[in-house]
Amino acid sequence: MRDLAIGVRCEEKPMNHGFSNEESVKLIAEAGFKKVFMSFQNEHLSGGGGYRKYLNLIRENNLEVSFVHLGYRVNQGIATLWEEGEAGDELINDYIKDLDIVASDGIKMVCMHVTKSNRQSPMSEIGIARMRKLLDHAEKLGIEVALENTVWPGYIEFICDHIKSPNLKVCLDSGHNHVYFKDSFNFDKFKNKIACVHLHDNDGTADQHLLPYDGNIDWGKLICDLKDSGYQGDITSESVYKESYQHITPLEFFIEAKNRLARIAENLAKLEEEDERK
Ligand SMILES: [Zn+2]
Repeated sequence: MRDLAIGVRCEEKPMNHGFSNEESVKLIAEAGFKKVFMSFQNEHLSGGGGYRKYLNLIRENNLEVSFVHLGYRVNQGIATLWEEGEAGDELINDYIKDLDIVASDGIKMVCMHVTKSNRQSPMSEIGIARMRKLLDHAEKLGIEVALENTVWPGYIEFICDHIKSPNLKVCLDSGHNHVYFKDSFNFDKFKNKIACVHLHDNDGTADQHLLPYDGNIDWGKLICDLKDSGYQGDITSESVYKESYQHITPLEFFIEAKNRLARIAENLAKLEEEDERK
């Protein structure tokens, strides 16, 4: 079966309700996970100083890093990628620094957003030129860059149409796909390009980051689409322990998360076996 993974936020602000991100790492290991993904913001400012504290903790707990989720809070953030001006140039240079940081720690994949949720920038040539610069650097380092579906349609498609790089990949976020895209993710277009997933559920009204099967995503269909798209990667959760989960302990939450992911992995494996028998 594939590896199961879950997210750790590598910043002070807790990802989960009522306990620290450091505590999450220990509970994730205790729940039996073998892998995590890490998310960070603005690490280029400290040369990785913030996230390495978590990386050490993760490795001390015998957890492997599946990928790192890059983030950027300077200026207008990722929106400037598409806009003329120095802010966008700086942004891509800072992302390049992030790639150097994670490469020096032996990490082979990053995922990133290409739009800002509260500001829709125009798709532009300059945005493509900057992404090309990032991908050229990623190729030199041997890092895959997976672009995540966030809120606005068409941007990942636009980049994939304009940049041909073996290191350019896609990250499917099941929650965003359900609430912001009405389940319209283009699995055909991204066949063999999906390198990682953020699996979490919602009821279609907000990005709730619930455990898979706690909202109303059609998981049967999603698993079938993943199989058809040739997805080979880890089964990774981006679910969050919220107040609504307080009837179970944080450890029980992570164990439950692992069980739900295992169910997804098993169903995916079954479909693949059926295909092989055909
Ligand atoms: Zn996500």
